[in-house]
Amino acid sequence: MSDEMNLDPLEQLMEKQGRKCGGCQNPLTGIYRSGGVVGGDYGGKFEGLGFVNLRIPKRLKGKAVASNSWLLCAHCLGSTTVNSQMPTWLYNKAKAYHDENPEDFRSMTHLMRTALEQYILSEDEKRQREMAYERMKMKYNTMASEIKSASESLNFLRDQLVDFF
Ligand SMILES: [Zn+2]
Repeated sequence: MSDEMNLDPLEQLMEKQGRKCGGCQNPLTGIYRSGGVVGGDYGGKFEGLGFVNLRIPKRLKGKAVASNSWLLCAHCLGSTTVNSQMPTWLYNKAKAYHDENPEDFRSMTHLMRTALEQYILSEDEKRQREMAYERMKMKYNTMASEIKSASESLNFLRDQLVDFF
C-alpha cells in the first residue's frame, strides 16, 4: 500500500502541487484548516499557509470536489475584478464561441479565465520542457566526454602494453 493512501485529501493536494502555491509557486509549509473567513491581514500570520480554493468558483458553478480544488497562499486567494479593453472583433468572436459552447463555458467570465489560464499554463509547460531538454543535453555531453576520456585511457594502456611485451 502506498503512503499516499494514508494521507488525508488536503495532504494529497499538497503533495500533488509539490508543496507549492498553485498560483505563485511559492513554497507552502502548512495547510490552513480552521475554516472561517481570512481577509485583511495577509502579513506574517498566514505566510506559507495553503488555503483550499476552488479552481472554478461556486459562483461559476464549480463543484466542491478534489479535482476542482487546489491550495493557494494568502496572497493568491480571492478574486480581482479586471476591467480591460479588448478589440470588439475579439470580444464578438469570444461571445460567439461562448454561445456555441454553452456546456463548456458557463459564462463569458469562465471562458476568458479558462483561455488565460490555458495560455499561461502551456507557456509554463513549454519552459519546463525546454529546461528538461537542456538538462538532458548537459548529461549527454558529460557522458560523451567521459566515454572519450575512458577510451583515451584504454588506448594509452594498450600502447603501454605493446611497449611492455
Ligand atoms: Zn501564491
